[in-house]
Amino acid sequence: MRLKDKVAIITGGARGIGRETALLFAREGAKVAIGDFDREAGAATVQEICQMGGEALFFSVDVTDIKQVQLMVDGTLGGFGRIDILVNNAGITRDAFLTKMTPEQWNQVIAVNLTGVFNCTRAVVPVMISQGSGRILNAASVVGLYGNMGQTNYAATKAGVIGMTRTWAKELGRKGITVNAVAPGFIITDMTAKVPEKVLEMMKEKTPLGRLGQPRDVAYAYLFLASDEAAYINGVVLSVDGGLVL
Ligand code: NDP
Repeated sequence: MRLKDKVAIITGGARGIGRETALLFAREGAKVAIGDFDREAGAATVQEICQMGGEALFFSVDVTDIKQVQLMVDGTLGGFGRIDILVNNAGITRDAFLTKMTPEQWNQVIAVNLTGVFNCTRAVVPVMISQGSGRILNAASVVGLYGNMGQTNYAATKAGVIGMTRTWAKELGRKGITVNAVAPGFIITDMTAKVPEKVLEMMKEKTPLGRLGQPRDVAYAYLFLASDEAAYINGVVLSVDGGLVL
C-alpha cells in the first residue's frame, strides 16, 4: 500500500498506460480520479477499481478544454478532499512525414500533448501549493529525446513536456512539489497498434531486452515516482524502454 490514502488524477486513464496506472495506484491504496474522452472505457476502469474495493471517480474531460479541466479538479476535490498526484498521461499521435503533415495534424497534437499538460498542471498546482506537497508526473517519450521519423508534431510535444518538467521542478520544488517525467519506448497499447508491424518488429530487434513494453512496465515507473521512496527525485526523465536508446 505505497499510496495509501493518496489522491491521484490520471488523465487518459480509460485505456492503455493510463488505465494500467489507475489500477495499480488503486491497488496500492490511492483514490483515483480518471479524466478521459472515452466515457465507456473510463466508466469500465472505475467499475473495475470499485469491484476490487478501491475508490475511483470518472470525469469526462478533454484536456484541451480549460473549463472541463477545472471541473475535473473541482470534482476530485469535492469527492476526495485533496489532490496528491497528477499523472499527465493523455496523449495522441497524428503521424506524417514533415512535407505531408497538415496544420490540423500539427495543431491537434500540440493541443492535447502540450497545452493539455499545461492546462491540467496549471489547475492542480494551486491545490498542491495550499497542501504543501504534491507529485506531478508527465508522459514524455523516447521520441522527445531522440526524435522519430514521421513524428515532427509528437516529438515537439514530448520534448516540450521535458522542458516543462524541468522548469516546474525548479519553480515548484520549494513548495514541496516534485515534477518528473517518464519516457517510454514502444509500449503495446492502442496507440502503437497504429504503427506498422514491420516497424514494431524492428524496434523489438533493437531493444536489448528483446521485447516491446507492456503498460505495466510504465505504470510501475509512475508508482515509484509517486511513492514516498522518490521524495528526493525531482526534474528527472526516467526512460522505460528496455534499453532501446543507449
Ligand atoms: P492510448 O491511446 O492507449 O490511451 C490514451 C488515452 O488518452 C485514451 O483513452 C484517449 O481517449 C485519451 N485521450 C486522448 N486525447 C485526450 C484528451 N484530449 N483529453 C482526455 N483524454 C484524451 O495511449 P497510450 O496508453 O499508449 O499512451 C499514454 C501516454 O503515454 C501518451 O501521452 C503517449 O504519448 C505516451 N507514450 C506512449 C507510448 C507507447 O508506446 N504506447 C510511448 C511513449 C509515450 P480516446 O481513445 O477516446 O482518444
